[in-house]
Amino acid sequence: MSKFKKISPFILIVVIMLNVLNRTNAQSIIDPAIRLRIMETTDLHANMIGYDYEKDKPKTEYGFARTASLIKEARKEEPNTLLFDAGDVLVGNAFGEYAYLSHFLNPHDIHPVFKAMNLLNYDAATVGNHEFNYGLDFLRDSLQGANFPYVNANIYIDDHNDFEGDDINYFNPYVILERQFMDSNGKKQTLKVGVIGFLTPIAAEWDKEYFQDKLIIKNIKKTAEHFVPIMKDKGADIIIALAHVGMEADKGLKEQKGNSVYDLSEVEGITAILYGHSHSLFPSYDGQIEKGIDHKTGTINGIPAVQAGYWGNHLGIIDLDLIQIDGKWTVKSSQSSVRPIFQTIDHNKIPIINEDPEIVKAIMYSHIETLMNK
Ligand SMILES: [Zn+2]
Repeated sequence: MSKFKKISPFILIVVIMLNVLNRTNAQSIIDPAIRLRIMETTDLHANMIGYDYEKDKPKTEYGFARTASLIKEARKEEPNTLLFDAGDVLVGNAFGEYAYLSHFLNPHDIHPVFKAMNLLNYDAATVGNHEFNYGLDFLRDSLQGANFPYVNANIYIDDHNDFEGDDINYFNPYVILERQFMDSNGKKQTLKVGVIGFLTPIAAEWDKEYFQDKLIIKNIKKTAEHFVPIMKDKGADIIIALAHVGMEADKGLKEQKGNSVYDLSEVEGITAILYGHSHSLFPSYDGQIEKGIDHKTGTINGIPAVQAGYWGNHLGIIDLDLIQIDGKWTVKSSQSSVRPIFQTIDHNKIPIINEDPEIVKAIMYSHIETLMNK
């Protein structure tokens, strides 16, 4: 005789329902999900507004003032966001050159590029090769004006010996940012976001004047393999690599192996890669399909990645769905995309978003000074 016969069907149903509810609760406590939007600008090259300083006319197909509007729009869509820049912000047009020649006019002035970028609350950035074009002193003074941290892990002070154990990084190699995100249960979760930066070693050859006998640039992949486990040990839940290097290594670079985004994607422990330098888009529809490179989701060897073009013409976005497995935040799925500031109709570039008036106002004085001193 089964003892269930003594329990009324009503009680049995209640017991089953409570069990189901309990299990759902237990699952949601163990497995909250976080939707995290990671945004990227890259290769702005001092194009804070859309203006062709050579032809002396406004342009609609580039300029950070429009990218800034895209950033603000993208932030409204998702509660959890991060914003990064992958380098080459200071040099590339008359605006950047005037900032260099005037050296911000007063000693305590902020570089006009950062007057604009500081308004967007960047989480971190890395240096590009062009950041070195005007020399190390100017670079130091410029970066002092950024209200967000700069990281680079593979530029070292040249100590003129072959022993690596005593090598000292020129920049802060990485940061671990504590950020609060809203999870799928509406609860706040604190995540440690590790951010590390890399620069293509070709910069040392292109700007020999400033690198020779002073700084060396080490292999990107080997540097990542050294630092990523250290960042994990320090509690980084996710690791974002900012890489100023293209999908492929620079042609003419002595050491090709390990100095590309493709090779960086093979390093274990990196959650996402935001890259620049080659002025391309990733994902892109016309990009060549190679082994391990997925233009549909925007992954390289399974690692979410994005490259946002150049001069602010696109905003790069990686949407990550994170879940906890055995207490560790893990990527369940991802989607990378690039959002343009313009569309092309009959060969005309039509803006699809307005310039952010805050940005325009912040750089207007420097813009006019640039025009007057050309
Ligand atoms: Zn570059």
